[in-house]
Amino acid sequence: MSNIRNCTKCGKMFNYIAGDVICDNCKKEIEEKFQEVKKYIDENPGSGLKQISEACDVTSKQLKKWILEERLMFTENSPIQITCENCGARIQTGRLCAKCKATVTNALNDTVKQRQQALAAELAKKQQKQAEAKSGMKFLKT
Ligand SMILES: [Zn+2]
Ligand SMILES: [Zn+2]
Repeated sequence: MSNIRNCTKCGKMFNYIAGDVICDNCKKEIEEKFQEVKKYIDENPGSGLKQISEACDVTSKQLKKWILEERLMFTENSPIQITCENCGARIQTGRLCAKCKATVTNALNDTVKQRQQALAAELAKKQQKQAEAKSGMKFLKT
């Protein structure tokens, strides 16, 4: 089965699989651009988003996307301020600080645990019912 879509970047038709609707060519270009941006930030740690976007010819939207994907990191003296969406702490990349991330992960783990416990309880109930039905039959036979 093929899923033909138009690349959102160049408009070319391509066989879409998953993720961003971007053709392989453009994906490669973006990847090359990313390496260029990363190198630029390494060499110019004091530059802001606007400066990077102008120097590397990349949109600030794309830069922000890389930040959210945790691909671009900024040092403490960088003018680019990224803050945790939950507590507002200064972070180097992504959306949450390490502390909030741990809390979110724990909360997720708890939900999974609760679900597993509920499933186990249900299964035990079912098995108990089956056992009762079996002993009931035995009782009828005798
Ligand atoms: Zn394309
Ligand atoms: Zn936080």
